[in-house]
Amino acid sequence: MIEARNVTLSFGETPALRGADLAVERGEIVAVMGPSGSGKSTLLHCLAGILVPDGGEIHVDGRRVDTLGENERSALRRDRFGFVFQFGQLVPELTAAENVALPLLLAGVRRAKALAAASPWFGRLGLDGLERRRSGELSGGQAQRVALARGLVAGPTVLFADEPTGALDSLTGEQVMDLLVASAREQGTTVVLVTHEARVAAYADRHVMVRDGRVTSLAVLP
Ligand code: ADP
Ligand code: ADP
Repeated sequence: MIEARNVTLSFGETPALRGADLAVERGEIVAVMGPSGSGKSTLLHCLAGILVPDGGEIHVDGRRVDTLGENERSALRRDRFGFVFQFGQLVPELTAAENVALPLLLAGVRRAKALAAASPWFGRLGLDGLERRRSGELSGGQAQRVALARGLVAGPTVLFADEPTGALDSLTGEQVMDLLVASAREQGTTVVLVTHEARVAAYADRHVMVRDGRVTSLAVLP
């Protein structure tokens, strides 16, 4: 499903990726681990077509991502990928339901239809009754579950999750991870999960370790 070969990317003089390789099977949940500043987020952003690498090759779901232009990458992200980042990514003035429906609205789905597609996610993720709540008024755990629903509502082939529980306490983080993994399995979604926390990575099928811009090895969990 995902194959990255010898991916390099520098920010000015700072090399963030120095020849990263990664292969992920369809339906697999892979945790990308490693110390702060090792290049985990940069790798995820390259795989997801957010950043364009300086060198190497990236193939996702049969498409070569690294040579696509801005518009094609944007369309690919919208149509095929889902995203969950740290807390603080929802549009606070919109309701929870509107936030979940957003990827569909941006893809041109009519409002009533988009909101109807968002609706079952509220029951599924334990968010019943919060549909009309403004996102700015949700708790951290609720907001992150809304963000998860938004990441999955369009049925992405790959869900990219960057420290999805980073702003949550451990119990709330575990609830979000339980739901993330269960939903991904149900839909057969491939997941690339960036985390520096072993207890979060423990939800994955497989772990890889990034060090100094390279995927060095399988990570060993305690
Ligand atoms: P991680 O996700 O493992 O913490 P990052 O991928 O965020 O690591 O960062 C890798 C390296 O690239 C770090 O040295 C970081 O400071 C640098 N970096 C990341 N993003 C930028 C950016 N937009 N501009 C400049 N340097 C960046
Ligand atoms: P994360 O590693 O979880 O993505 P960071 O706090 O490292 O979070 O980075 C937040 C944002 O700042 C990202 O968009 C990243 O690309 C950017 N960034 C990271 N390091 C630098 C840096 N040294 N200079 C400029 N931007 C950076």
